[in-house]
Amino acid sequence: MSEQVEQREFQAEARQLLQLMVHSIYSNKDSFLRELISNASDALDKLRLEAFRNKDLDVDVSDLHVEIETGASEATGESGANAGAAGRTLTIRDNGIGMTRDEVVDLIGTLAKSGTGELRKKLGEANKAADAEELIGQFGIGFYSTFMVADSVVLLTRKAGESSATRWESSGDGTYTIAEVDDAPQGTSVTLHLKPEDADDELHDYTSPWKIRELVKKYSDFISWPIRMEVEKTLPAPEGAEEGTEPTVTVETETINSRTALWAKPKSEVSDEEYAQFYKHVAHAWDEPLEVIAMKAEGTFEYQALLFIPSMAPFDILNADGHTGIQLYVKRVFIMGDCDDLVPEYLRFVKGVVDAQDMSLNVSREILQQDRQIKVIRRSLTKKVLSTIKDMQANRPEDYQTFWTQFGRVVKEGLVSDADNRDALLRLSSFATTFSETAPTTLADYVGRMKDGQEQIYYATGESRQLLERSPHLEAFKAKGYEVLLLTDPVDEVWVGSVPEFDGKALQSVAKGEVDLGASDDADEDKHGDFAELLAWLQETLAEHVKEVRLSTRLTSSPACLITDTFGITPQLARMYRASGQEIPVGKRILELNPDHPLVTGLRDARAAAEPSDSLAETAELLYGTALLAEGGVLDDPARFATLLADRLARTV
Ligand code: ADP
Ligand code: MG
Repeated sequence: MSEQVEQREFQAEARQLLQLMVHSIYSNKDSFLRELISNASDALDKLRLEAFRNKDLDVDVSDLHVEIETGASEATGESGANAGAAGRTLTIRDNGIGMTRDEVVDLIGTLAKSGTGELRKKLGEANKAADAEELIGQFGIGFYSTFMVADSVVLLTRKAGESSATRWESSGDGTYTIAEVDDAPQGTSVTLHLKPEDADDELHDYTSPWKIRELVKKYSDFISWPIRMEVEKTLPAPEGAEEGTEPTVTVETETINSRTALWAKPKSEVSDEEYAQFYKHVAHAWDEPLEVIAMKAEGTFEYQALLFIPSMAPFDILNADGHTGIQLYVKRVFIMGDCDDLVPEYLRFVKGVVDAQDMSLNVSREILQQDRQIKVIRRSLTKKVLSTIKDMQANRPEDYQTFWTQFGRVVKEGLVSDADNRDALLRLSSFATTFSETAPTTLADYVGRMKDGQEQIYYATGESRQLLERSPHLEAFKAKGYEVLLLTDPVDEVWVGSVPEFDGKALQSVAKGEVDLGASDDADEDKHGDFAELLAWLQETLAEHVKEVRLSTRLTSSPACLITDTFGITPQLARMYRASGQEIPVGKRILELNPDHPLVTGLRDARAAAEPSDSLAETAELLYGTALLAEGGVLDDPARFATLLADRLARTV
């Protein structure tokens, strides 16, 4: 056998993650076993499916199972000479789909998840154990969790249908070795050379069969494939044997998990802990579920569903490639993961299993999209999840708060995409508001607080609460005591465009269209007369920047602000589109002036007293630029603005 051993480096993010593992910052080391069994179970699911679809695949699928072996190092699948002196090993073996060499490099040597750049940043910052724990919760650590308990890990794998196998080994430092080997059973075995420090620690002795049995019961009991282990059995001494005869000890293979599908059991018969472990398996997650939803539908389309709402959003929840996290089973047989047709994209954080009774095992993703039964299931899962969130909001405010902080910005995508459930979504949403510094409000509560004479629900959109609170657009609303919703998630810019009203009250942006704050009286009419010449002149002078100049009722202390047309594109929305690669033009906006501000009245008087000068035109430009800056906007030509301002200041110092 010519074994070409190649040494390679882990991808940078993977290396950092491994560092965290090697230094064992995670408080619950036992979880590594759940992860390995979970991977083995996935591999068996995949092989069964592949064998069903591809009749040419020549593999024996009659006895798919997981095997656990503890103790001596012969069990590593290595040649005896390599078996190391360490002695304490644990091997998890499956006869599932296996991996090719390239797959091993891709799947084990790199982190495939999207947004790894951000992860790298967070890993770099995570120096405190608590940070790291949280990070692991958000990210989920699969195979690498083995390095919490092992000094070195050997993975031996042969892909179903291939003749050559791959041996991978690493100590969790920056590198691994990979080699082709000719001889290995089909499937994957993972052998851990356990860290010595756990040897004397009964709680963490992973070579002890009873320990393994306990962990399998606790973490992996529901796995549908048999998990087998060899156990020693002491046979009773045969009758008539002499006193003092040594009892006979035999070794038997035992299945140590009960293999019950949790979704088929009534909720009352399953413990929270069992649900939590099952959640971690299906969701590939490390956090606790915030909510468990068990459903059973009978009648035309029979199915069972077991869904989970996580308590922590994965770090890439916003760019999750639109994948949802539901597995489809048909009559207990795994059909596919990430079955995107079972829930709308805005519920992509929901994880779990749907098991349908009457569906072909042969369904493909393409067929599913058209399938009537899937559409029916999707509709009822959606309704059920939304009503569950609504219940949580009514009865468990703290959990709802957690939920909304983690997933609110995803749920709000539904306000745009799911017109049928829009009202339900509006009712279970909550928003930051000027009414309270800390507590968000529902729309119903907002409406309940509306002032006499207030007709509309006012909102402001922007990058941060602080920016919005100080923006000139809010001045008159504050002065009149009107509550304003402060919407700072990127998706807010989008959904406000598709939600015209709530409870018969129109939603109105403080920075869009005309607002009537009831300030107009006779005096204002006079003002309009007074200002006509100024407005006309400014409109001409600033024609490059604005489409209209008018007086405002929105302002109390700032001289001017910029307003978008009722149906116009706000600069924030344009920025968002640009970030996603779409260029949409921002129309010119409207400049509104505060008729009580000395700068505005001064400009009016100066304009009336003399023919317009360059200096006056510069003041107009400065006025416009100031309005843009005050709302957190970006000047077209900041250098010119700075020069004008510096010249003006030079004249006044
Ligand atoms: P995850 O399971 O969340 O994808 P892991 O780190 O646990 O992340 O595993 C990474 C990938 O390696 C898996 O997605 C799978 O493709 C592959 N893999 C891991 N273990 C096995 C196994 N026993 N058999 C086949 N493939 C495996
Ligand atoms: Mg995994």
